[in-house]
Amino acid sequence: MQKLEKLDFTISGKTIPPASGEYFESYNPFSGKPWAMVGRGTAEDINHAVQTAKKAFLEGDWPKLTPTERGKLLRKLGDLVAENSERLAKLEVQENGKLIAEMRMQINYLPQWYYYFGGLADKIEGSVLPIDKPEHFAYTLHEPLGVIGMITAWNSPLLLLTWKLAPALAAGNTTVIKPSEFTSASSFEFVKLVHQAGFPPGVVNVVAGFGSEAGEALVTHPDIAKIAFTGGSETGINIYQKAARGLKRVSLELGGKSPNIVFDDCNIENAINGAISAIFAATGQTCIAGSRLLLQRSIHDEFVEKLIKLAKSARMGDPMSNDTQVGPVTTLPQMKKIIEYMEVGKNEGADCLLGGVRATRPECGTGWFVEPTIFTGVNNQMKIAQEEIFGPVLSVIPFDDDDEAVEIANDNAYGLGAGVWTGSVARSINIPRQIRSGTVWVNTYRAVSYMAPFGGYKKSGLGKENGQNAIHEYLQSKTVWVSTGGATQNPFIMR
Ligand code: NDP
Repeated sequence: MQKLEKLDFTISGKTIPPASGEYFESYNPFSGKPWAMVGRGTAEDINHAVQTAKKAFLEGDWPKLTPTERGKLLRKLGDLVAENSERLAKLEVQENGKLIAEMRMQINYLPQWYYYFGGLADKIEGSVLPIDKPEHFAYTLHEPLGVIGMITAWNSPLLLLTWKLAPALAAGNTTVIKPSEFTSASSFEFVKLVHQAGFPPGVVNVVAGFGSEAGEALVTHPDIAKIAFTGGSETGINIYQKAARGLKRVSLELGGKSPNIVFDDCNIENAINGAISAIFAATGQTCIAGSRLLLQRSIHDEFVEKLIKLAKSARMGDPMSNDTQVGPVTTLPQMKKIIEYMEVGKNEGADCLLGGVRATRPECGTGWFVEPTIFTGVNNQMKIAQEEIFGPVLSVIPFDDDDEAVEIANDNAYGLGAGVWTGSVARSINIPRQIRSGTVWVNTYRAVSYMAPFGGYKKSGLGKENGQNAIHEYLQSKTVWVSTGGATQNPFIMR
């Protein structure tokens, strides 16, 4: 049997094997076979990385750099990501099974985050306070937090990492990254570019491993100032509780069950494309998947018929092929979970009009595929309408008027994204105002940008990524008082 390549950690710019000497297999979801061995990090490796990042934060070249110099390094990193984008995109497809077209688009877009936050690095300004106390001068400073622990999910490894890393580095922090156990390789390749760009050793460190071992060790490490996390809501809540014991900051980008609302006055063809893109792109493995399609009753039957026709024509197969439209599911447990939910939907009494099973088409080979699935007759109280499935499973729910659409949309624990399809200007303004979610797309879906704040309401998370304010998620403010003279006051009362 062919020996698999071993992937080791990066600590202080050096390649370091796991302290335990143990590795686990990383699988290619299209072949269903292992392609590499990943170091299994433990508390010992995490401690090594955190101590290194702490030292880099306090001593050496990094804290001496001016913000302008930090910005230059970030921009250089953006250039290197652009130069290596094809290689990184292919590596991610090998691990997460998403389409090469999608991963190319994501990685080609990543440099913008490094340019944008690199540009912001020297625009972090405190303020001089028009203080009301005589004979005092007072001002504020915004300072980095320290060592940031970053924990990411498997669906878009470098994109999710970049949303955290670019503002954190621009603000002057150092980091330890724990990528998903299923998709660690691209983070190891990426960190080589960080060092090539000229970032001092120890500023960015990567330790792989399981959430319950390496992940928890990072969350509970006393020298971690903040955890920036993307993943499932239950994991996020668990991390929030553990971080609270150390009074650490957290930002949490969690799951979703996004409503995609189609009114009868919309451009139907656009809305059908939007509904397909919202749930079947990336095989439904996106936090913003429009997994609840709310259809106005007057267009319900016509819309469903056209939707099924288009979904049926989706080409499944090798994610590396430019022609493929639906690739495999990233992990075997995730595929099993999706199939279980398909059964739950059938047992709950919803009508499975498309799919509902594992895909066994010849072009799917030995990969982990499920058929694009559409349930109609769904009641919003059903499990398939309330719980995040994280796969290509659409629940179609009818409504009669605007109030009912908003009520159903908001009747869910999550609040990450929402879609509204309408030809009415009034609706395009009134409906987003009433929806309890962090992003609402009108006559579009899945648009994201480094400029546009992103994050959840309710059980979908805490804090925002992207946009100028995201840098403040990685800063703390300090107030400085300077006496400008005058006699010492009574020492027993407040000045
Ligand atoms: P998980 O919550 O299972 O895992 C996310 C990360 O957390 C992984 O690196 C995992 O480690 C780690 N982890 C697991 N348990 C712990 C723990 N006890 N302590 C510390 N770390 C831990 O999510 P998935 O990877 O399955 O990703 C899918 C989820 O991510 C979906 O719910 C999706 O909606 C959400 N997501 C949210 C996004 C957003 O921006 N809001 C974007 C993308 C995804 P490991 O897996 O390596 O064992």
